[in-house]
Amino acid sequence: MTGPVIAGFTKSECLCEPEEINFAQNVDEDAHITVPEWRLHKVQSPIELKHDETNEYDHFEPLEFHGHWDHGGDATLNNNGFTATLRFQNREMPVLVGGPLHEDQYIFEQLHFHWSDDDHSGCEHIFEGQAFSMEAHAVHYNKKYGDFKNAADRHDGLAVVAFFLKATDDDEHPCFNKMTEAVKKIDKINSTTSLPSDCLTWIREAAQCKGYYTYQGSLTTEPYTESVTWIIYPTPIHVSREQVSEFRKMKSTPCERHNIVKNVRPIQTPPAHKKLDIIYARSHKMSE
Ligand SMILES: [Zn+2]
Repeated sequence: MTGPVIAGFTKSECLCEPEEINFAQNVDEDAHITVPEWRLHKVQSPIELKHDETNEYDHFEPLEFHGHWDHGGDATLNNNGFTATLRFQNREMPVLVGGPLHEDQYIFEQLHFHWSDDDHSGCEHIFEGQAFSMEAHAVHYNKKYGDFKNAADRHDGLAVVAFFLKATDDDEHPCFNKMTEAVKKIDKINSTTSLPSDCLTWIREAAQCKGYYTYQGSLTTEPYTESVTWIIYPTPIHVSREQVSEFRKMKSTPCERHNIVKNVRPIQTPPAHKKLDIIYARSHKMSE
């Protein structure tokens, strides 16, 4: 995942290798070189989620999305050679509050996607042994740190909401079409296109479910900082196979010989002494 971190990961040179580039492998090889030791004391992401190993909790405040699917301002989608990244401009940024985020407000920075060369290995987190076709990450930073850059290095700096997407033989998801139509226009690396500002309506239904998993983990791209409160909705959003396939047509190099075929970091295994503390937010605290 991530925001400006990913934005810095642009393929400025053509690698001109004969095979498709496997970013996941490249990224993973760097993981333990680029992360300072002090940042590796907790949990690296992604992880496999197993419901039986989580603690159920019913006492969070409601998790609230403010403005994520509203009309207004502008939206752009960019191909940085690694993923497609959605950003908003000229509007008040959406805000995430409540749930496991304590009293803090988290401001929307960007949303991006992970996918693979097939329809059943394109997600980063694994749920009950099952992988999905894609995983979308809505990245937010803690308002008290001012901006994403300042927040990205703090233990409570970022909140990332993850949604699974499952490719099916069914019709295309009409709301998700706003994304895929834009993806078709950013096949070239470093290209950007505009899209309707209410382009996130496809996450609205999933985001209003009460059951989600949350844990403290890390960015899944460099610099892998352990600054992320993950919020993961387990029920996949159904899209068509054709909609997923549009993402694989994006180019990863200026020579246009290589596509972004896989941008998934492998599952990370925590140190033996470290027990994962994963919470299943089954329902929220009732208002009095
Ligand atoms: Zn991501």
